[in-house]
Amino acid sequence: MFKVNENYLKLPGSYLFSTIAKKVNAYTAEHPEANIIRLGIGDVTLPLAPAVIAAMHKATDEMGAKETFHGYAPDLGYEFLRSAIAEHDYKKRGVSIALDEIFISDGAKSDSGNIGDIFATDNKIAVCDPVYPVYVDTNVMAGRTGEYEEAAQRFGNVIYMPCTAETDFAPELPKETPDIIYLCFPNNPTGATIPKTELQKWVDYANANRAVIIYDAAYEAYVSEEDVAHTIYECDGAKTCAIELRSFSKNAGFTGNRLGFTVIPKELAFDGVSLNSLWARRHGTKFNGAPYVIQRAGEAVYTSEGQKQTKEQIAYYMNNAKVIREGLTAAGYSVSGGINAPYIWLKTPEHMTSWEFFDYLLETAHIVGTPGSGFGPSGEGYFRLTAFGTYENSVEAMKRIQELCRG
Ligand SMILES: *Cc1c(COP(=O)(O)O)cnc(C)c1O
Repeated sequence: MFKVNENYLKLPGSYLFSTIAKKVNAYTAEHPEANIIRLGIGDVTLPLAPAVIAAMHKATDEMGAKETFHGYAPDLGYEFLRSAIAEHDYKKRGVSIALDEIFISDGAKSDSGNIGDIFATDNKIAVCDPVYPVYVDTNVMAGRTGEYEEAAQRFGNVIYMPCTAETDFAPELPKETPDIIYLCFPNNPTGATIPKTELQKWVDYANANRAVIIYDAAYEAYVSEEDVAHTIYECDGAKTCAIELRSFSKNAGFTGNRLGFTVIPKELAFDGVSLNSLWARRHGTKFNGAPYVIQRAGEAVYTSEGQKQTKEQIAYYMNNAKVIREGLTAAGYSVSGGINAPYIWLKTPEHMTSWEFFDYLLETAHIVGTPGSGFGPSGEGYFRLTAFGTYENSVEAMKRIQELCRG
């Protein structure tokens, strides 16, 4: 008789974004004339850069010719891509990462979930609260957490590290020592970062406590401030305690293309077992490789044309972020984020929960955002808007919000 993985039953039934979609659909069915502005999207909206498209066309033609056809990709990914990564993402920042420490994948979402395969079930995890829900949810599936506690809106046996206005949306070193620490900077949903000197404290803490940091740098390309690290390996000693997750999704618009990578330095070992070798084993056995055409597309991001074009896209989004930040501030909201990330995080008015504010904004201004409580218990009382809309929509949304506060 088969048995299901009962850990899955611990996950609350309805997913944040399906609840939002239902509410928006119900509203538009009743008010078909409403001109809805979607500032809740966590997906890029600009098309792929011309340099990327050209590389994809060329690689597609190669796949159609006997001499240049490619079958299964090498386990770790093609060397041309891993070399480009080692050179541009690391060497240029003074960090030396070897080619066999880079594992090409189909994205950071898959890697952030799958990385748990190489860790024992009885590791205790710590997460920023609020944060990208994938870290906690995949640990729930793996049986590393307790039950969901409805009243507290959290899972048992997880160390939640509150990131609120009081700490400038940064986590504080936990009182109870975790085994695995998930950090995500720039953060989704708060847009917060911490200075490199602060990140160094986490690295020192992890090394002192034999904990491992899983560092999600999916928004690295949005970092605009000098004192914020682009990679955790800019910190001394990070190679003995940190795994880094990277993605082409938000940096270069690859959400539909699927490409990312994970870095596991060979020095990262426990009791003589290197995590690099465990992940190599897992990667070779359970992952089929990112497609040749997509890896060539990723390589093109690092060309000078590709860099110029993707930087323009990020500048476009970050200009939207500026419009939203300034618009909300002018309307009297308390706002953070939007400087090193395409996310703007605002405090809901005194008497409104995250979901009440969601309804209020939808009904009065026809704007869709994301309730902060969907990203963790400390997100209650906050709300996320994203810069992935158009410039025109960002301007129009702020006009509506300012009219609301005058009215
Ligand atoms: C969007 C996002 C990802 C997903 O990256 P993919 O490479 O598209 O899987 C990972 N981490 C965070 C924090 C994200 O917001």
